[in-house]
Amino acid sequence: MTEKKYIVALDQGTTSSRALLFDKTLKPLGIKQQEFSQIYPSAGWVEHNPMEIFSSQNAALWELLSKYDVKPTEIAAIGITNQRETTIVWNRHTGKPVCNAVVWQCRRTSDYCEKLKKEEIADYIRENTGLIVDAYFSATKIKWILDNIPGAREAAKNGDLLFGTVDTWLLWKFTEGKVHATDVTNASRTMLYNIKTLTWDKKLLEFFDIPESMLPEVKASGDYYGEINLSGCCVPVTGIAGDQQASLFGQGCFYKGNLKNTYGTGCFLLANIGNEFRLSEDGLITTVAANLKGKTDYALEGSVFTGGAVIQWLRDELKIIDTAAESEEMALSVDSTHGVYIVPAFTGLGAPHWDMYARGTITGITRGTNRKHIIRAALESIAFQSKEVIDAMTRTLGTSPSSLKVDGGACANNFLMQFQADIIQKEVLRPAVKETTALGAAALAGLTAGFYKSQEQVLELQIIEKKFCPEMPESNVKELCIAWQKAIEKTIEK
Ligand code: ADP
Repeated sequence: MTEKKYIVALDQGTTSSRALLFDKTLKPLGIKQQEFSQIYPSAGWVEHNPMEIFSSQNAALWELLSKYDVKPTEIAAIGITNQRETTIVWNRHTGKPVCNAVVWQCRRTSDYCEKLKKEEIADYIRENTGLIVDAYFSATKIKWILDNIPGAREAAKNGDLLFGTVDTWLLWKFTEGKVHATDVTNASRTMLYNIKTLTWDKKLLEFFDIPESMLPEVKASGDYYGEINLSGCCVPVTGIAGDQQASLFGQGCFYKGNLKNTYGTGCFLLANIGNEFRLSEDGLITTVAANLKGKTDYALEGSVFTGGAVIQWLRDELKIIDTAAESEEMALSVDSTHGVYIVPAFTGLGAPHWDMYARGTITGITRGTNRKHIIRAALESIAFQSKEVIDAMTRTLGTSPSSLKVDGGACANNFLMQFQADIIQKEVLRPAVKETTALGAAALAGLTAGFYKSQEQVLELQIIEKKFCPEMPESNVKELCIAWQKAIEKTIEK
């Protein structure tokens, strides 16, 4: 028998499909990536072609195997991680999607969600799915498809249609229609899954008029899902998780109180809160963390809408930097922002404020303000906004996390990471492997397949590339946070 040397992670994101190869030491050996089309049929609508999602993912996988000369027999297992909430409905007999995938960003059901928010069902949704009613989540997207695609409701009632988030669609395609399943993290983003009882919620299915026959079987994130036939060799899929939960797992946040922040276009903060379901009063969502079979941990999730995007704005709109990386040197060349605060509420403010109507402000400008102060204030705004989410998590949990693990494009910025450590007064830990989402999927698959021994081994294999320790005196931190709060007050119209 050929020795099993690798785990493959399929990372299906919003703009590209990627495949990554990991070895026994959880080291990424290589990556292949395929972009695919973004479809914008009208203002605020976003779609993907499900066939292209699959073909780009399949191509990335085969290119990876070919480039690194990997034989399918050498792959111990495959893990899948994916853009969450994106909704696909297809015919179980023909395999044909009834329409394009309705992407998580798509706002076509916003008006309907605004109406729902005022109804009693909104409280039921909050208490049983952990979510706040929003067009992001799959439920209203499925309903839209059944209500608007000719013949869809009839076909669904007859049991001819299947629903899946992107993981489910990929699994179904890769297993040639044999497996219709999802994992608990993806199920928890549909707004149809009861995360207290861990079952599809009958009341919500009835409310949205969605037949249960459309829904996939829900499994643990680390579980045996079925086999993919790669040139005659059957390789098991043993791990699936939505991207943010995969990254929480990939960061080794296995225990209660462990926290990570992904600094991308926006910032996504997730904290493992252990096996007790808990709701936040501070605008955080409760969701299921990625777990191995037999274990259920929950997570609190809060997002900052504009994170790294504020740096893109400096580059593309204000044109005061040429590259995102340059912002670090500029920020370090002044000793402070000299009282300037930027609240980049370009598309409103996320957790904990939830103000969709807020718009950005720059405050504290004086005659001496120059572009370096503005650049520094922009970077600081990413850290301040993240701190507000961490504070909300601390209030909900009653305890404060011991450190913060970081990933995403903007975590490369040393000034930003040091400032973050300073204002939360906690260590910020940056891992050597930045592909934490794929790493999470690989770890889940590898642990389930017995390729990695234990979660503890996974933790030992993780290397921290740089640790940022808080250096700023507490009194300064307080002063800065009070000033930030004032800037927020000026931004939020009462
Ligand atoms: P996404 O997955 O959301 O596309 P990435 O994780 O690729 O985002 O991160 C890209 C974001 O990070 C961009 O908004 C960019 O402005 C920001 N970014 C990248 N490098 C740096 C840097 N060195 N300093 C500050 N921001 C950065």
